[in-house]
Amino acid sequence: MSAVMITRKVRKWEKLPGKNTFCCDGRVMMARQKGVFYLTLFLIVGTCALFFAFECPYLAVHLSPAIPVFAVLLFLFVIAMLLRTSFSDPGVLPRALPEEAMFIEMEIEAANGNVPTGQRAPPRIRNVQINNQIVKLKYCYTCKIFRPPRASHCSICDNCVDRFDHHCPWVGNCVGKRNYRYFYLFTLSLSMLTIYIFTFDIVHMVMREFLLFLIRRDTQFTVLEVLVCFFTLWSVVGLTGFHTYLISLNQTTNEDIKGSWSGKNRVQNPYSHKNIIKNCCEVLCGPTYPSVLSVVIAASAPFQNVVLRLQKTTAPLIPNEHTPDDAKPSIAASAEKSPSPREEHPPAPKVPPLASPETDVEDKTH
Ligand SMILES: [Zn+2]
Ligand SMILES: [Zn+2]
Repeated sequence: MSAVMITRKVRKWEKLPGKNTFCCDGRVMMARQKGVFYLTLFLIVGTCALFFAFECPYLAVHLSPAIPVFAVLLFLFVIAMLLRTSFSDPGVLPRALPEEAMFIEMEIEAANGNVPTGQRAPPRIRNVQINNQIVKLKYCYTCKIFRPPRASHCSICDNCVDRFDHHCPWVGNCVGKRNYRYFYLFTLSLSMLTIYIFTFDIVHMVMREFLLFLIRRDTQFTVLEVLVCFFTLWSVVGLTGFHTYLISLNQTTNEDIKGSWSGKNRVQNPYSHKNIIKNCCEVLCGPTYPSVLSVVIAASAPFQNVVLRLQKTTAPLIPNEHTPDDAKPSIAASAEKSPSPREEHPPAPKVPPLASPETDVEDKTH
């Protein structure tokens, strides 16, 4: 008799200790607090249902049948973008496995040497050079990894997220590298849908004679729609305008809040192409990235250093220099003085002056 050993594939998301919930074999992912997301869904579906029920029949007969058709298409697009943003992996960076964490810890200890008792250990930071600017990689004490550039730890989801933008309770998920463009398309299409419904509500009211319209019972829902759209309009259109501004600069909300590239220390955004069209193309039409969470973890998987694996695609490591200033900023500036990637281990590396004062807003635990 031959014994058959059946081994089940275990994927990264199954071992993710963050506060996310998963279903459909890991294809659907959301934050645990979903109350505001259901409110968003209710407001969109409810307002559109009233519009289809009370406005569209009249407008289709007296104006054009294209009005409800376009409204349906726009509504479906908005819902598709909302669900895509809410249910997808925003770019979560899995925590280090115990062996990986142990190796990184040994590396840090070897680099820092023995810290005398009573003295504070130097900050855990590594430098990488991106477009002639030095960017600091911070160590996440929760995930036990050096975060890649632009990543941050979301205190609500309790995960590090690549190109972290912000945590959006309205969509019930983090917005990051993998779902930012869908989030932007959601806000853009929702702005268009709100303006569309608001405009045709007003048209409907005018066509049915305004004063007469207000006292009719069957048209009171139209007044409700106008009020919902009016108050939604300002926030949604404002949000879309803000993200259009960020995209044109190739900047994230997180970086904007921190003032990472505010320029007061002559720090410039190393990711910006200094061209609005190029920045928009990169953010909205750039390559899509596969989810790291679907990677299979085998019991006999060869040891991999998470840090090196992540940084392979970003930039060369620069020797770190622990100065007292290390504690505050995470980005250092300067083009000319920055050491070449080839100068891996010089006796006294010259690191350019530190610049942008950056505090980790999201990472409240550290
Ligand atoms: Zn983290
Ligand atoms: Zn989050």
